[in-house]
Amino acid sequence: MSFKVPRGTQDILPGQTEKWQKVEEIIRHLCSVYRYPEIRTPIFESTELFQRGVGDTTDIVQKEMYTFKDRGDRSLTLRPEGTAAVVRSYVEHKMFGQPDQPVKLSYIGPMFRYERQQAGRYRQFVQFGVEAIGSKDPAIDAEVIALAMNVYESCGLKDLKLVINSLGDHEVRAKHREALVKHFEPHIHEFCSDCQSRLEKNPLRILDCKVDHDHPLMATAPALTDYLNEESASYFEQVKKYLDVLGISYVVDPNLVRGLDYYNHTTFEIMSTAEGLGAITTLCGGGRYNGLVEEIGGPESPGIGFAMSIERLLLALEAEGKELDTESQLDMYIVAMDEEAKLKAVELASSFRAKGISTELDYSNRKMKAQMKSADRQNAQWVIVLGESELAEQKATVKNMSSGHQEMVPFFDLVNYLTKQKEQ
Ligand code: ATP
Ligand code: MG
Repeated sequence: MSFKVPRGTQDILPGQTEKWQKVEEIIRHLCSVYRYPEIRTPIFESTELFQRGVGDTTDIVQKEMYTFKDRGDRSLTLRPEGTAAVVRSYVEHKMFGQPDQPVKLSYIGPMFRYERQQAGRYRQFVQFGVEAIGSKDPAIDAEVIALAMNVYESCGLKDLKLVINSLGDHEVRAKHREALVKHFEPHIHEFCSDCQSRLEKNPLRILDCKVDHDHPLMATAPALTDYLNEESASYFEQVKKYLDVLGISYVVDPNLVRGLDYYNHTTFEIMSTAEGLGAITTLCGGGRYNGLVEEIGGPESPGIGFAMSIERLLLALEAEGKELDTESQLDMYIVAMDEEAKLKAVELASSFRAKGISTELDYSNRKMKAQMKSADRQNAQWVIVLGESELAEQKATVKNMSSGHQEMVPFFDLVNYLTKQKEQ
């Protein structure tokens, strides 16, 4: 019998994990600088939370959720996204009562969607996202977008395109909806069955259809931007003004509608324009969700956020041929010639590691030559060889592997010596 990782999931192995850690480090740093402290919510939530919070007509709820009954007959779902749970927590812990609004939060962790696997699309993937809940200041929209852009730029990405749109408010959506139904209804039989049911439930989502995306009626569909009322239009103008102040360039795409039902006003995506990325180019999606907190049972608290997967960020880096700076240097390899030397090696390794000097040694009783080869493969900065004479004299020769320089150092002084060398 042989086992493989479940379809749509992957093992992230040493060599790769360093890249993940580097990205996580950049994210943690920026969240601290922008003041979005981390929130950790459970991996599963009640199914109803997502039905309400993500929306019954979305692809996520209709076909992508991992839903199961637990032994108490409760319907639970592995989280497919982060916002619903963060909002649930905001309401549950009455964060709306905190004196400083908006409440700014970030999260990073695995999400689960039952999707067809392809490059950049997994069934388990890691999303980093932020939410700012409790303000409808266009400056916070711009801040959230800036943070997302900053993450990519700090990772070294250059080929980025920010696309923004406004979905307007309730009134705008209602008028636009009417126009959409009028536009598509006479020809709806030419569209996929999903679109046919969308026409009634949520016609806006027809514009987001991946099947009918090239139907001529898509290009001529009524654009939301033509329906914006004064308030929505002015909000959108202010967001753009703030983006200008921040020096962030953007393209307005009147057909950008995002998958989730609860979005309104500002909506945005960040794409990679790198060649060779394949079919999936969207790295990050986000937008405003005034009304969601009420949907989840809280008081009126307008919010905005985004989510990006680390998988797609890493794919974009690869497509641009960019390497993250992930050096993890092995400082010291101790070669031990016999059993007694091994005892000393273990003792020395412990004293080195206590001072932050990364140290490796042999655990396979190999000959000196094989141990030296290991030290080489692992790119050790220094090597010491312990044998009979070293033990007798209580000192060792420290060899600097890059310069070839050698120096005899008493055992008691080794930690000191290496620490000083490291500082140089
Ligand atoms: P798509 O149109 O690609 O399916 P989506 O609208 O479902 O994206 P969101 O729900 O907005 O995506 O999720 C935000 C981000 O999460 C995406 O921009 C992408 O970076 C990432 N993402 C979404 N689904 C997956 C997945 N299955 N595998 C890897 N990353 C994903
Ligand atoms: Mg999707």
